[in-house]
Amino acid sequence: MPDFTPTAQQQLKFLKNIQLILQSGSFSSTYKFALLISLSRLAIEKGEDLGESLSFEYTEIAEKFIELYWKQAVPYTFHEEGQLILNQNNGKQAAIVNRIVTLRQSYSSLGLLRRDSLVWLKLLKEVTRTVKDMPVRYLQNINGQNFEFLYQLDQCAKQLILLPQVMFCLRQFSEIIEELCQKRWIDYIRKNSSNAEILNKLPNLEQFMFEPSRNQLNAVANVLVELQECRCFYCNKEMKKNNYAVDHFIPWSMYPSDTGHNFVLADSSCNSKKSNLLASQEFLHKWKARNEQHDLIIVDRISALGFLTDKDRSHRVSEWAYRQAKENNYLIWNIL
Ligand SMILES: [Zn+2]
Repeated sequence: MPDFTPTAQQQLKFLKNIQLILQSGSFSSTYKFALLISLSRLAIEKGEDLGESLSFEYTEIAEKFIELYWKQAVPYTFHEEGQLILNQNNGKQAAIVNRIVTLRQSYSSLGLLRRDSLVWLKLLKEVTRTVKDMPVRYLQNINGQNFEFLYQLDQCAKQLILLPQVMFCLRQFSEIIEELCQKRWIDYIRKNSSNAEILNKLPNLEQFMFEPSRNQLNAVANVLVELQECRCFYCNKEMKKNNYAVDHFIPWSMYPSDTGHNFVLADSSCNSKKSNLLASQEFLHKWKARNEQHDLIIVDRISALGFLTDKDRSHRVSEWAYRQAKENNYLIWNIL
């Protein structure tokens, strides 16, 4: 088998190209940020650290889009002014956002929408079509030129096939890609003058757009208190009421997406010491065992709160994270 692992030089070139499409891609909505983030998350959840090509169903990409925009389509309701929703397009609101806004009126969380399979599948189909027609087609278009370094455009295919080496690079640079895309996405929203009114009333745009709400996390804490019998996941000491926090086992700074199995409950002391580090191997084993044991409860109760729950995907993310840590000598937090 030939080895497609990209050389250091090829990897740098890839990163330069990402920067190029973010800077000069001819695109008038935030879809391109959503697409790059989606590809990079899927490469982690479904791929391996190899130079081979990798393919995704278009519906898998659409699912990531729905997750990203669901959060950002929360309306800001003001007394007399009606509803305000972040405009994700230069002109009229982006089509995907419009569909999601309508559905949010009937479903209080994404978890509940998913359970209504007919409505969910219809949304998925519509978003898939838009993703295929718009961002997939235009992402690699720079000043009218098609610059294919991620995938080759094939409108007839049911799957999007990443070119060789791309999966490897996406996994290698996903933390940088996430950060670049989020920053540019936020800039785009800020610069869009139709968002001025809502921005005046939104204290923390980054948190609003990408991070889970406090209410959601409090609800997760209530489930985990029961599951952990009110003991800290790390030191196992009994936790006092209100003296604990929901911790992202794989730190948010490495993988900024909330998946139900990634949450553990830690007392304030362990939580602040672990901060945005990975925990030592013994906790990785403990976390995986916890997920195996309580999979059904996590799927049932945490997905109802609006989080995606898929144990195998979460575990693949953890394998990627620990491998990155090893290769790049990340600091690992140990309780001792
Ligand atoms: Zn503790």
